[in-house]
Amino acid sequence: MKYISTRGQAPALSFEDAMLSGLATDGGLYVPESWPQMSAEEIAALAGLPYEEAAFRVIKPFIGETFSDDELRGILSRAYASFRHPAKVPLVQFGANDFIAELHHGPTLAFKDVAMQLIGQMFEAVLERRGERVTIVGATSGDTGSAAIEAFKGLHAVDVVILYPHGRVSEVQRRQMTTPNESNVHAVAMDGDFDDCQARLKDMFNDADFRNSVKLAGVNSINWARVMAQVVYYFTTAVALGAPHRKISFTVPTGNFGDIFAGYVAKRMGLPIDRLVIATNQNDILHRTLQSGAHTKEGVMPSISPSMDIQVSSNFERLLFDLYDREGEAIDQLMGELGQGGFALSQGALERLRAEFDSGACSEEETSATIKAMMESTGELLCPHSAVAVKVALEQRGDAAVPMVALATAHAAKFPDAVEAACGIRPDLPPHMADLFDREERVTRCTNDLTALKSLINEKIAR
Ligand SMILES: *Cc1c(COP(=O)(O)O)cnc(C)c1O
Repeated sequence: MKYISTRGQAPALSFEDAMLSGLATDGGLYVPESWPQMSAEEIAALAGLPYEEAAFRVIKPFIGETFSDDELRGILSRAYASFRHPAKVPLVQFGANDFIAELHHGPTLAFKDVAMQLIGQMFEAVLERRGERVTIVGATSGDTGSAAIEAFKGLHAVDVVILYPHGRVSEVQRRQMTTPNESNVHAVAMDGDFDDCQARLKDMFNDADFRNSVKLAGVNSINWARVMAQVVYYFTTAVALGAPHRKISFTVPTGNFGDIFAGYVAKRMGLPIDRLVIATNQNDILHRTLQSGAHTKEGVMPSISPSMDIQVSSNFERLLFDLYDREGEAIDQLMGELGQGGFALSQGALERLRAEFDSGACSEEETSATIKAMMESTGELLCPHSAVAVKVALEQRGDAAVPMVALATAHAAKFPDAVEAACGIRPDLPPHMADLFDREERVTRCTNDLTALKSLINEKIAR
């Protein structure tokens, strides 16, 4: 399997090289040159398998020669050993034919773990084989940083450096980043806000000497391997509810479009998905795009579901590539226009988009009301992101005979203030994290300055 860039100019790469490089050299994102197919028999055979074995069968066609079968099985078993539920991604029923798939049983209580744990093990395996070492540097507003630290801590071939804005992440999020005591983990509290952290990260990647000397690598949400890892739970969930013998619908709380794009990939591979519903909070660029055909940026409005507070969804480019018949030049032009503020989809592209997806937006009041209503009717505590999905799922219900699955992307205890304000109950951290507030913190403060950051990283990493 080869990977090609959505902008059409970068060389095609193997899975291994696409994973290690993240972004293509022409600014595009890597996608498989064709979608692997799973027959109805192969899908039916996933029923009842352990999550890791189902993952093996779904992922295998994407990785080409990068890992042998034994290696891939070992990687999957190490990646998901840290999940606290034997099903890894369990289902909860909350209505006559309405379900929640819980993606938050990983070590940091958010769905980022599903992909990050896998990519951590894949990086380690590839780098050890090559005898190389890299420095993963990431900027975070909270969730991604802790997921990356949990995934890479203690690995031999990697240092992981996470920049977060000092004083601007929640206490749970900060402690998840500062309490792991492995020597290859470096949490950096930087002066400024999240945009400053991201700007300095970009500066480091643009500094060729520094980038090469510390072997910088990124694991942000445009890395193909992360999207691939997320395809698996669409299969396991749908099969548990009767696929391929009947159709299943999904509603996905969406920010960067990685999670729901994985659902689209599952559908391309042959999974009978009826409706794929994009759920946004008040930052609703994608919902507006489906309604009007205009993909235009607006400022970000902070919300109680902060992991979906985005101005543009970076993985949407992968879908555009398909909507425009995989014409790299067309995508290059659209992305240029997006840099200037936005673009209008062609009539043909808009029709295809609407044929594949539905959408709905959820206001702050509706998010809180949904947390309260779910608590009162079923006893389930939802995080605000998951509440956005449930609200839109019920609204876009469609055929009552088709099971609707809303994806729950974080544990309520990650957002205790919003949950308590909505329903009066303060969610407890699960038992394995109950001592989070007693663990010792380890963090380096840094000014918002490129030179200072570079010398800090040079000092910290092993070589
Ligand atoms: C990242 C995240 C999302 C959004 O997922 P995308 O793949 O960026 O669309 C939703 N909910 C939570 C809790 C997240 O951490």
